[in-house]
Amino acid sequence: MRNRIYLCLAHMSGKEMDYIQEAFDTNWVVPMGPNVNGFEEDLEKFVNHKDNGASLDRRVVGLSAGTAAVHLALLACGVGPGDEVIVQSFTFCASSHPITYLAAVPVFVDSERESWNMDPALLEEAIKDRMAKTGRKPKAIIPVALYGMPYQIDRIMEIADRYGIPVIEDAAEGLGSKYDGQVLGTFGRYGVLSFNGNKMITTSGGGALICPDDSAKKEILFYATQARESYPYYQHEHIGYNYRMSNICAGIGRGQMTVIDEHINHHKHVQELYCELLSGVEGITMHCNPSDCYDSNFWLCAATLDPTLRIRGQENAYASVVSGAVGGAAGVTHAASTATTDCQPNANVEALRVILDAANVEARPLWKPMHRQPVYRTSPAYCNGVSEELFHTGICLPAGPYVSDDDVRYIVDTIVGAIVR
Ligand SMILES: *Cc1c(COP(=O)(O)O)cnc(C)c1O
Repeated sequence: MRNRIYLCLAHMSGKEMDYIQEAFDTNWVVPMGPNVNGFEEDLEKFVNHKDNGASLDRRVVGLSAGTAAVHLALLACGVGPGDEVIVQSFTFCASSHPITYLAAVPVFVDSERESWNMDPALLEEAIKDRMAKTGRKPKAIIPVALYGMPYQIDRIMEIADRYGIPVIEDAAEGLGSKYDGQVLGTFGRYGVLSFNGNKMITTSGGGALICPDDSAKKEILFYATQARESYPYYQHEHIGYNYRMSNICAGIGRGQMTVIDEHINHHKHVQELYCELLSGVEGITMHCNPSDCYDSNFWLCAATLDPTLRIRGQENAYASVVSGAVGGAAGVTHAASTATTDCQPNANVEALRVILDAANVEARPLWKPMHRQPVYRTSPAYCNGVSEELFHTGICLPAGPYVSDDDVRYIVDTIVGAIVR
């Protein structure tokens, strides 16, 4: 049996241990130090470079997680109890959960079909309607680069600027993706990055916040280190958090930065190969860059299945309650109480996932839209049906540095063999 092919596995450059060793040798085994500073410099160089040769001047803060970066960006935008924050509904929960940490209210906005990300027309409708209903402006707007695909940031920024609302780009999945030759996370006031184990690069766990300037960076650093005032004793005038990145994790990050371009190129190559091999397969459509403005890193490769496409075994999809976490996801300790919910992928998608799983290939449904999550049932939502339809029909395919050309051919052969013609 071949080795399991995972969605996106961390891949080391070989340099990581040198940086970690240096941290031990110099006794910087704390959440600050030379690796953190070095990693931030590497990231600044990376995000500030534009394809046209120009250069930006953004600053980066290393944090313990991408979720922490979202949280601190919201805090810095002045989000507090009772405020509303507009967030893309089609996303992983880390985009919206931190809004609730601040006792604020997420307002979900659906996606457009091109990029699968925040629909600018709906965004404006939501802003107007919230102002009419509450008499107040939403405090921030969070578009999300799903699977690395850029959002329509030119239109989103135009609307956000017109209403004077700051944008927090969730580029956690979109590290190195570009819109018009500019790296995601550098358009809005803040940009969120993640270095979790399954993202474009890893620090084992970690994240970063791209900040507009030095004073914004200082403000974020202050809140990331328990908001300590500069007295010889611990003086606290604000509530802070313990969110700084560890110097050991940053050492991994510095090693990873030496291969980030290779990683991105490999993800793009795998995407191209899927497109080529699946191009003649009726009923399956790859999610591609909609136009030349878009330059996705293709963190994960995503496809949609026509609802009429028949997959072997689909009549038995969802017949039994899932026992254990789907795909062995870490930390899933709650057992599912039912085999189905009122919003789930179509039977052909689930059947294909099961067939790929049996062939030792990890595949996963798309993110379930937040406006359909039970925990957010009372949150306002502005919908057009796009994200729900994509959730019903979509599937994520493996894409990391470990996925070889031979793996892609095997995955495509498995998919083709699963189709009932
Ligand atoms: C991974 C991710 C984050 C941040 O996650 P961490 O695991 O906390 O680093 C935020 N938003 C999205 C959309 C993500 O996929």
